[in-house]
Amino acid sequence: TTVYLNGEYLPMSEAKISPMDRGFLFGDGIYEVIPSYDGKLVGFGPHIDRMKEGLGFIEIGLNHSHEQWREICEGLIEKNGGGNLGIYLHVSRGADSKRFHAYPNDVAPTVFGFAFEIPPAPVADKAKAKGYKVSSTEDLRWKRCNIKSTALLGNVMHFQQGYAAGNNEIILYNAEGEMTEGSACNAYIVKDGVVITPPLDNQILPGITRLMLLDILRKDGSIPVEERTVTMDEVRNADEIWLTSSSKEIAPVIALDGNPVGNGEIGDVWQKAQALYSAGKFNY
Ligand code: PLP
Repeated sequence: TTVYLNGEYLPMSEAKISPMDRGFLFGDGIYEVIPSYDGKLVGFGPHIDRMKEGLGFIEIGLNHSHEQWREICEGLIEKNGGGNLGIYLHVSRGADSKRFHAYPNDVAPTVFGFAFEIPPAPVADKAKAKGYKVSSTEDLRWKRCNIKSTALLGNVMHFQQGYAAGNNEIILYNAEGEMTEGSACNAYIVKDGVVITPPLDNQILPGITRLMLLDILRKDGSIPVEERTVTMDEVRNADEIWLTSSSKEIAPVIALDGNPVGNGEIGDVWQKAQALYSAGKFNY
């Protein structure tokens, strides 16, 4: 694997980062994961917009343009043989000489990127798709979940909770019993043909797959969409539950805490939405 580190491409085994890097010591950084199929990136513009916004939220002064980021991504794709690759980008605040919580002002950010193989994109076919099984639990992460922080311990612990229970993901809800998102994905219900997902706020990551899916569905117009609070009672009584992320696209959930979702099979609305997403995803 060839990786990108601070302006250079080099073998993964030669990429070195200081143990004093604040990414390592504090999880002080922002990351992105952008899928690419046959060398074509999905959602490049909005992914970079979100990373620049995240860097702004935590005051990391790295001003790479979209073009500079595109060159890095395309360099990684080319040097790793193309095909289906996830491009991971990570900017940390950099390595300081001391361990002190306040932001240093004389430290250069660390910019790292690598590519990893991803499976072919999901096909919109109920008979072939993988049905996800999920747990649910109270969301015990922090109150700034809109920042795509590299400090993922809260997400990792929640994912592990679902995984240890034999499930593929975990759906989180706040103290009021309202669904937030998954440990590494956004969450949706379908009820009476309407797709419903929580609105953007500090409780959820503004997913790029979410952004693209809602835009595609609204432009198509045949499946109504609502962004509003969703209670766990509604989730338990939903006809369908979906999860979205760059790697999953739209994942249909067939079991929640051991109980079937709807009739326990992948739904028709999922199939239609995934087909629309597959057809439209390269336009972003
Ligand atoms: N929510 C969380 C907590 C995530 O970690 C992710 C992606 O990794 C998402 C949502 C989905 O975001 P995207 O669609 O941009 O991949």
